[in-house]
Amino acid sequence: MSMHVARIAQLASQTVLQTSSVLPSSDNVVFVSSNEDLVATLRCSFQAHHGNGLVSLVASDCAETLPRQLLPHAGELSHLPLVIHIEVEQDLSSVFLLHSAFPYLLLSTNTLEAYDNSIVASFLARSSRLTVIHVYFRDEDVAGINRDALLEEKSILDHLSKDTASNDLSTPKDDAGTLWNAYRDVTSRLSHFTSRPLRSFSFQPLEQEFEVHTVIFIIGQDCLPDISELTGVQFIYPRIIAPLPSSSILEAIPPDTTRVFVLEQLLEWPTKWTPFHLEVVHALQQRKPIPVIRSGILGQGKTSITDSDLEMLLNTSEDRVQLGSFVTPSPPVPPLIPKHELSYIKVLKGLFDIRFEHLNSLSLTPTYGHLATNPEFALGRVRGQLEERARLVKLVEDLIHDSNTADNFHSLLSNWHFHRDDALTSHTFGLEIVQELERDDCNPMLKQMLKLKQHFSLPSHWIVVSSWSYDIGFSGLHHILSSGLRVNILFIHTIPYTLRQSNDHRQHDIGLYAMNYGSAYVASVALYSSYARTMQALVEADHFNGPSVVLGYLPYQSDQTSAVDVLKETRLAVDSGYWPLYRWDPTKDVEGGEPFSLDSDSVKNDLAQFLDQQNHLSQVIRSKPAIANEIVGGLGNDLKEARRSKAREAYNKLLHTVDAPPMRIFYASDGGGAEKMAKRLASRGTIRGLDVSVTTLDSISIDALNDQDGYVVFITSTAGQGEPPQNGRKFFRSLNSAANLVNNKATLLSKVRYLVFGLGDSHYWPRVEDAHFYNRPSKELDSKLALLGGQRILDLHMGDIQDADGPETQYKVWEARIWKVLGVDAVEVSEKEPESITLEHVKAASNYLRGTISEGISDMSTGGLASSDRPLTKYHGIWQQDDRDVREERQAQGLEPAYNFMVRARMPGGSCTPEQWLKLDRLVNEYGNGTMKISTRQTLQFHGILKKYLKKSIQDINKALLDTLEVGGDVNSNIVCSSIPTMFKIHDQVHNLCMNISERLMPRTTAYHEIWLDNKMVAGHAVKDLEPIYSEWYLPRKFKIAIAVPPTNDVDVFTNDLGYIAIVDCEGKKVIGYNVLVGGGMGTTLGNQKTYPRVASIIGFCTPEQAVDIAEKVTLVQRDYGDRVDRKTARLKYTVDRMGLDKFKAEVEKRLGFSLSGHRPYSFTQNLDQYGWTTSENGKHYFTMFIENGRIQDTANKEVRTGLREIAKIHKGTFRLTTNQHLVISEIETDSLSQIRNILSRYHMDNRDLSGLRLSSSACVAFPTCGLAMAESERYLPILIDKVEMICEENGLRNDSIVMRMTGCPAGCTRPNVAEIGFMGKAPGAYVMLLGGGAYGQRLAKVYRENVTEPEILAILTPMIKHYALDRMEGERFGEFVIRTGYVPPVTSSQEYWK
Ligand code: SF4
Repeated sequence: MSMHVARIAQLASQTVLQTSSVLPSSDNVVFVSSNEDLVATLRCSFQAHHGNGLVSLVASDCAETLPRQLLPHAGELSHLPLVIHIEVEQDLSSVFLLHSAFPYLLLSTNTLEAYDNSIVASFLARSSRLTVIHVYFRDEDVAGINRDALLEEKSILDHLSKDTASNDLSTPKDDAGTLWNAYRDVTSRLSHFTSRPLRSFSFQPLEQEFEVHTVIFIIGQDCLPDISELTGVQFIYPRIIAPLPSSSILEAIPPDTTRVFVLEQLLEWPTKWTPFHLEVVHALQQRKPIPVIRSGILGQGKTSITDSDLEMLLNTSEDRVQLGSFVTPSPPVPPLIPKHELSYIKVLKGLFDIRFEHLNSLSLTPTYGHLATNPEFALGRVRGQLEERARLVKLVEDLIHDSNTADNFHSLLSNWHFHRDDALTSHTFGLEIVQELERDDCNPMLKQMLKLKQHFSLPSHWIVVSSWSYDIGFSGLHHILSSGLRVNILFIHTIPYTLRQSNDHRQHDIGLYAMNYGSAYVASVALYSSYARTMQALVEADHFNGPSVVLGYLPYQSDQTSAVDVLKETRLAVDSGYWPLYRWDPTKDVEGGEPFSLDSDSVKNDLAQFLDQQNHLSQVIRSKPAIANEIVGGLGNDLKEARRSKAREAYNKLLHTVDAPPMRIFYASDGGGAEKMAKRLASRGTIRGLDVSVTTLDSISIDALNDQDGYVVFITSTAGQGEPPQNGRKFFRSLNSAANLVNNKATLLSKVRYLVFGLGDSHYWPRVEDAHFYNRPSKELDSKLALLGGQRILDLHMGDIQDADGPETQYKVWEARIWKVLGVDAVEVSEKEPESITLEHVKAASNYLRGTISEGISDMSTGGLASSDRPLTKYHGIWQQDDRDVREERQAQGLEPAYNFMVRARMPGGSCTPEQWLKLDRLVNEYGNGTMKISTRQTLQFHGILKKYLKKSIQDINKALLDTLEVGGDVNSNIVCSSIPTMFKIHDQVHNLCMNISERLMPRTTAYHEIWLDNKMVAGHAVKDLEPIYSEWYLPRKFKIAIAVPPTNDVDVFTNDLGYIAIVDCEGKKVIGYNVLVGGGMGTTLGNQKTYPRVASIIGFCTPEQAVDIAEKVTLVQRDYGDRVDRKTARLKYTVDRMGLDKFKAEVEKRLGFSLSGHRPYSFTQNLDQYGWTTSENGKHYFTMFIENGRIQDTANKEVRTGLREIAKIHKGTFRLTTNQHLVISEIETDSLSQIRNILSRYHMDNRDLSGLRLSSSACVAFPTCGLAMAESERYLPILIDKVEMICEENGLRNDSIVMRMTGCPAGCTRPNVAEIGFMGKAPGAYVMLLGGGAYGQRLAKVYRENVTEPEILAILTPMIKHYALDRMEGERFGEFVIRTGYVPPVTSSQEYWK
């Protein structure tokens, strides 16, 4: 039979998926093997047809497993033009699970029905654009089929397709009435073509000449009557199981029927009543008198109803009978809750503890079967429990009114009765009452109460609807809402944002439906967007005295989906408004408050409309002025269109005002190289009299490109794995689509005369097989433009970073040719080419770092700042960033990037007081993203601050007696020193030096106070700012200083521009001086061998009194000798190498007026933090706490931020940050020791049972906020460590430290260039891998592989770590081992780094 079904599916559909090879392979037939993700394949099929074509799935041999695969995705799939034909052998139990999860369920019990229903299903799905499930029985005998009908099928399909084409297919509706009418419509039209009736029921006998007293519905395979006398008995075979309106059932049952049987082949249906039986019962409630209704199961192989069966049926008094033979079903195997979804359950458990009652928990399946996860089953349970509690309340009330009740007991009962709806108090009084009850075991009333003792406590009832539980239809939701019961239902929505379908709105509908219902609490939350809001919503739902609906977002595809992806998808969904965060509490309306709280900034139209109806939108907008109506409305579509046409208008106007031949330059550039080149070309073109415009590639569409007059010049660099840069990706996408899909390819861009120049690095991909990535965007652009009919004016030219003069080498050749082609090569250029504006100009013109920052922060038409102000705000400790996870998405919507700011506090030596900590903690709550990050410069940084809160944040930091100056820009960065919890006195001295150097090198501009703290500028600018150290040009580049105290080099002193190594007296109490180092630095530019990392060189020894002057003079030499032309080679390390160490030292000594003495011996043993408890010589206690990658936040498993806040409330010492991004709770007084220990333990912050590898790891922020990131770092390193940790454990190295560091780009913020294993991001998922850094940061690591992905990293490290475990020498560190055994050579000078 599958063959006929499949053939019709093929004729009617754009794509047919088949689970066994029924159809021969062809273009539109796809075989799906049992181990493939069927739902994903379905999604892909629809994507291929842009959701328009009909897709059919012919599923044989998987009737048992398929429904479980489909159920979790029913919401998503239901609204697609999809037919799922499922072949069953006998038992319909599994497929009937799909009843009510999908709009239509058709059943064919014989071959002809299967044939007809296949056609019906195809056209129903196509016309309604909804999913139709068609179930048919396996049957090899197709003799019963009408051959003539088979011949007609092609013409039927042709006719019907014409017929349906005229219908309005745009709005699928899935209410039962509409669905039924659509079914009737399709069957009647099909009957017309087939000339045979296609009914919703077939009847046996066909003609009724006598009065029917008994109706028997048969739902099973061709189970025909084999009865000698059929008088008065009507057999009915439904062809459609859902939807089935009561009217159609009543129509089928003759009016005088006194008995109705529903016999079904549902051998393993878990409950007594089946869906169809319930429909019949429901329908017959309208009959008076109601006939006797019984149900029965048709056993295996039951193909006929015999006389004896009939006799048994007519005489039975049983509600449910069995016909035929049965094999005992095997016990149900409980499904597993997917890993990610456990996080919501964990939060519920954590919040409500013993009160948490998971009503449809998987733990119930061994007792109740799979149905235990059914929400309606759960509702039954809660109803039962609440009824029992009502009985208990009644008993308590009786006892209260009983004059014999003892006074004490009476008071207890009254108290409980009064507080019975209060979770905590009812539990406390309940316990006391139970104690009393257990003392008296004679009083029957008290015994009854004791039996109900569990109801003294008020449980928090939760039904969880997700992939592992049964779904719930709107009718189920309606039951729950209308029940008025105090029960909470949590819907977990798992579809990732990037896989969403345009009609995938079921969960939103649920929220709106529940809000419209009026008497339910409703919240939409996303655990990975806002933990605090999620908790708040769950607690509010629990408190609500009635039903609550919480929609939780948790996007994932499988257990293998990484937490990073879940996070990213959540962000995208929340930011775009796909998943708005809100809470709706109708009781607030009654109290005169605002019932709706919007917790995210974007909402979609449906929600906005709802709010509008409720007349709340205006209030929400008033309370959140940032949400403008246009954002709430069309999400920018109109705005986008308006912008485009305005731009085109302006452009056309411009075109008509000039005479010179136009040259339109479009560039795509990430790092600024291509942009600079494009702008330079533009200015040279203008000098030559051309009409020139220059703009980003994404600012032009393919259509508009063809309208360009003159010459079109493209300049693009190469990003990541040969991808186009960010500001050209949209254009590339449209270009590719045009090249793939458009029919008139060769003429599409026939008017375009173009030239392309590309920038790339031919050595970036060392493997031969990756060589094609070199300059791929420019090659692609050049060839696709030609393919689409563009006229190539000049051959593609490609600039290579590896050429003698970098990309300029080829560029010069190309530019000369352009002038020739354009006929302006002979033009005499008398005008001086304008000097290009560099950061040096911006600094000098900024009026001591003012720029237009003041104006920028009050301009609320944009969330960002002017591009010229961005480098200036770094001097004020402020970095403009945007959420890169949603950058493309927002761009596609015509929105500007999701700008926000990172603010960094100045904390010389990384110390702050508990009072300061509490103020900063409050700041992140009010203005930031709820987390703080300990940076590698021993400061705290706060992410996600919106422009409107920027000034307030800076003011609050200043109120905490901290500031944000001298932490960024081309000045001294936050100075760092060893955190050494064991050496109290020494720490004091080096910390003082930090403060003094920081004070000396502080920028003197008053701009900071003027802009952020509203200090007025001196009237008339009479007194000018003066920067005695920096001058108005400031330094050529950033400048870093560190002070290390041997034997711990926790600050990685060798990686700083200027370093001090403290030399301590024999008693360990006094710093007698410092070895001075210069020229360290980590940053490089990939592929640019002029850049390199360098470890600092020692230039001598100074006394403590000389140290501050040395800092000043080294800074001055760098100011005067540093490279101000190329920022890539502007750091002090290049100045030192360019001048030579001796000359550099001599210049410093000349300015000092004295010479440095010879350096003193010192010895480092490590560069890590010393975790755990120590007591210093002053008797105070220190706890060094591991904080993974420095991120201080509350998560479901660990509330570190809360814990530290609790500590700060009682702590009398200080907090010390480390440059490894951890925290020392310092100077703990003995009297607060036990309290602090308790808090550490309560918040799980004292867990030191971590692997040596993890304790030695660190990662920079990278995605989503760092603008320079090329790959993940902070979000990815913990995941990689989980895997490498396993390798270490397998080799017995769990506790061995291996310093592993990762950064998202070659800037090297976490110093991977001196790690034993280092990773620097190169492209998404790809890293440069380094090996062999010195174990205490004294030696550079060596590039081991230039482009590794995770599988390659694991493949490299697995044998290497094993080798290390087996062959290392006593005490030999990993960094030394990889050099001794030849994996990498030692890097003894920077020049060897790239070799
Ligand atoms: S290393 Fe690069 S990606 Fe990481 S934080 Fe620093 S600049 Fe950003």
